[in-house]
Amino acid sequence: MHRKIYKTCRNLLTSKRNVVILTFMVLWVLRFLPGKKTEVGEMKVAEKKETKRIPIANTLSVVVVEYEDFDNRLPATIRRSKAADMPAYVVADELPYPPVKLPEGTKVITTHRSPGEVHWTFEDVIRTSHVAIIPDGCYPSRVESLTYMSQLGEETEDVKAIAAPCSLNNKTKKLSMCQGLSVDLRKWALTYFDSNDFCDSLTIPVVLVISSKDLFSLPYPFTRPVQDAIFIQFALRKWKIGVFEEGHFVTDATLYKDPHIHWKHKFKQIDRLKAMYKLFGIKLVQSADGREQYYGCTRQSARCFGTVVNETPDFLTRGKWTPPCCLKGLRTTGKYVFNILQSQGVRFWLEGGSLLGAARNGDIIPWDYDIDIGIYKEDIPKSVHLTQCRKGTFVDDEGFVWDKSQESEGDFFRVQYSETNHLHVDIFPFYSKNGIMTKDTWMKSHKQDTEFPEHYLKPLTTIDFIGMPVSAPNNWKQFLEYKFGKNVIDKPEYPNKSFEFP
Ligand code: ZN
Repeated sequence: MHRKIYKTCRNLLTSKRNVVILTFMVLWVLRFLPGKKTEVGEMKVAEKKETKRIPIANTLSVVVVEYEDFDNRLPATIRRSKAADMPAYVVADELPYPPVKLPEGTKVITTHRSPGEVHWTFEDVIRTSHVAIIPDGCYPSRVESLTYMSQLGEETEDVKAIAAPCSLNNKTKKLSMCQGLSVDLRKWALTYFDSNDFCDSLTIPVVLVISSKDLFSLPYPFTRPVQDAIFIQFALRKWKIGVFEEGHFVTDATLYKDPHIHWKHKFKQIDRLKAMYKLFGIKLVQSADGREQYYGCTRQSARCFGTVVNETPDFLTRGKWTPPCCLKGLRTTGKYVFNILQSQGVRFWLEGGSLLGAARNGDIIPWDYDIDIGIYKEDIPKSVHLTQCRKGTFVDDEGFVWDKSQESEGDFFRVQYSETNHLHVDIFPFYSKNGIMTKDTWMKSHKQDTEFPEHYLKPLTTIDFIGMPVSAPNNWKQFLEYKFGKNVIDKPEYPNKSFEFP
């Protein structure tokens, strides 16, 4: 019996026309499989029993991802946006609670998986060729708008989604809502910018129509906030968004109207945004107006990376550079230490990688994780901080931690950003011996930690670093080549070559 069916199928597959007929037959048969008719929330187990489904051409599903349990218009949003035969889905971590009576035929896809269920993918469940992602409480004035949107943008290759604004009055102008977006995962950064000619992201809630093929090729098709998550994933692929201004989607003015509910919704969205940034590895967001918002470590938290092994912090092995919050914390600590030593008359100079970064672009090397300076050992008594530090670790009035290294690690001081955040400035005391600056102990993990002629310090000069002029050896270019080798300034090199980017 099975053999016979197989043979028939094989014969059918021999012509193109037959494949089309076969596809429709399979789809027709699938209608009667139990998966299709099971109750809300349970369908995912049954659905999986069916084989990989082919999207039905020119069809559209309505999907609502962005809504709140405590105040929503789910039934109206679905009823008003879908034509009679359109499938509709609500995608959520868990079933809406309190329960919502959804229009007939609507399925809830819950993404929190039970360990007992059979593995499934969104493509197994959503079978239409296009998906319209609609924010809760956003209603089309004309139901054809969605179908029309699914037919736009096919001509332009890099336009992979059509967006229509949800607004109270339909007066939003395209230019004011369209923004360019560049994503640099290596630098953990999103940068928004004004853009007149194309659209990477939109600043207001929109309905998004995307082909299922493109949407489900994204690793996070429905991660919330869904709009921002999709824009980031699109920008990484250089995919653009077409804007359909005549979409006429109107926002339900009664949604989140109560001030308490409005506030609750706002905070939930901020939490979701932070969670999404964490998942995507975003720690710095630069707005189009130049404002910077940092995510990641703060002075009150631990720094973003653990103990550094073999001069290679964990982020480098993951193809990333120093997190922006860490560079910011390092700059703060550096400025603080420089100002203190300067005010106390301690002669110091930028050392190693810090001087190299200053020489290259006036800042910390993008993948460096600390700041190194040298000081004259004989100046230590001039500093109350260093003197007190010699007796034991202490936290100063500004919350910085002054620490004297253990003898085994060599003779140096370390100033930490805070008790919890261990970003730090290392201070190496040198003394002059027959015109050579030397030390009694050397740090194995700092290869550039070597003796050098004292004439580089006579006199000291300054170099721009982390936004201020900082004391440095004279002839710093020659000094760097003396320590690191020829052409070191022009040839950036990773501490560990095997992690170099292409
Ligand atoms: Zn950090």
